[in-house]
Amino acid sequence: MADQPPTVNSDIPENSKERFSLIKEQFVKKFGCEPIFFARAPGRVNLIGEHIDYCGYGVLPMAVEQDIVIAVATQDNGKLNLSNVDSQYVDFECDVAKYEINSSNPVWYNYFLCGFRGMSEMLGLTEPTGMQCMVHGLVPCNAGLSSSSALVCCAALATMQANGQQRSKKEIADMCASCERYIGTQGGGMDQAISFMAQMGTAKKIDFNPLREESVMLPSDVVFVVSNCCVEKNKAASSDFNTRVVECRLASQIIAKVKNLDWRQFKRFADLQRALGASLSEMVAIVGSVLHEGAYMKSEVCEVLGVSQEELAQTSLSANTLQVSEFQLRKRALHVYSEAGRVERFQEVCNTAPPGASGILGSLMNDSHTSCSVMYECSCTELDDLVKICVEAGAIGSRLTGAGWGGCAISMVPSSVMESFLAAVVEKYYQARGLGPRVGEALFATQPGSGAAVYLA
Ligand code: ADP
Ligand code: MG
Repeated sequence: MADQPPTVNSDIPENSKERFSLIKEQFVKKFGCEPIFFARAPGRVNLIGEHIDYCGYGVLPMAVEQDIVIAVATQDNGKLNLSNVDSQYVDFECDVAKYEINSSNPVWYNYFLCGFRGMSEMLGLTEPTGMQCMVHGLVPCNAGLSSSSALVCCAALATMQANGQQRSKKEIADMCASCERYIGTQGGGMDQAISFMAQMGTAKKIDFNPLREESVMLPSDVVFVVSNCCVEKNKAASSDFNTRVVECRLASQIIAKVKNLDWRQFKRFADLQRALGASLSEMVAIVGSVLHEGAYMKSEVCEVLGVSQEELAQTSLSANTLQVSEFQLRKRALHVYSEAGRVERFQEVCNTAPPGASGILGSLMNDSHTSCSVMYECSCTELDDLVKICVEAGAIGSRLTGAGWGGCAISMVPSSVMESFLAAVVEKYYQARGLGPRVGEALFATQPGSGAAVYLA
């Protein structure tokens, strides 16, 4: 199923018809002609497995209903014209063969260009066909539901269709994971994988290198609720995300060096674990004995690895982490290895449904949040408060989802207490902070949605 290309479908889903016709209307108004197709790619919510995809470990997301839709027509003047239904996003025009992706100022169309460039390169096209595009997004931005990847994936899919080509979902997802890095973030591939491989009604365990997916049936007596703490975090506009990626790399490399491995070969914790032939819990013990508490200054990292700062930049750093002077290695490594274990256990409990399954899953989610907040330091006060309020309101488990530093929590709530749960969260978080007017878009129950697809207009 995941090896098939994304569906080309002439039947726009009944509940999307009104929205698609509004996007079409905007398209006609802007470009004076009709679109020939729509591309659609969903955002996602990660149930468990945070900040571990780029370390080579499996994660457990599902697609959300919220998505990016792009109405597209081709044109033969060699131009790419981008417009957005939301007028806060300015129009953009460039030649299909001549444009730059500006990672130091990640304006919205740069995400489109990531997908456009990635797909053009994958198809071997130096001059892809010109396109007129009208973009409409419903994924909350900068909130951990991966609006960025939905846009990148949707742009790649639109480019493929416009050029009359087909590739499998896995191939496109792998390519999109790489091409979103043109914006500067060194992500791992979860967001792009689930955007293409999602299936209505089921969460997915996604594994990497090579990309694989397995359906995971969630308990039927619970509802998953997304709540946005309303603190925004653009991942490409700060170095926080890449600093975590680099800390993981450096920790892998130092452990590899101490264990007499060729440390330059190691960038990911999963590869290190494989080379050492150790279990996840043995890796936790190894981290505890090799890496010290507190920060490593850059000079200490260089000394341990036996390299100059210039060489370290080559082997381990990204463009926006060259200036970072200290790195937390032990805490980050302990988070990743323990979180990878929680994902395995979560999947096993879903598959075997032992008595008290929901309770076990809830505890795993709570532990994941604590680890993200304390060890990985990727939460924020508002998000920690919101998670606490969700648990007090009756969630069996609650945790930040996505990269963090703001954005959303995901809570697992018994169906029987849903109403009182929502009422309590509205009162204690949203109303208490004057965010009452935002409840409609910020707090919602979600079910596993379907993956990216093309619809003929
Ligand atoms: P997220 O957690 O939502 O993926 P990121 O910081 O990775 O957050 O990326 C969000 C960025 O993606 C936004 O700042 C914006 O530039 C772009 N984006 C997302 N949705 C849209 C949209 N509907 N229209 C235009 N740009 C969008
Ligand atoms: Mg993103």
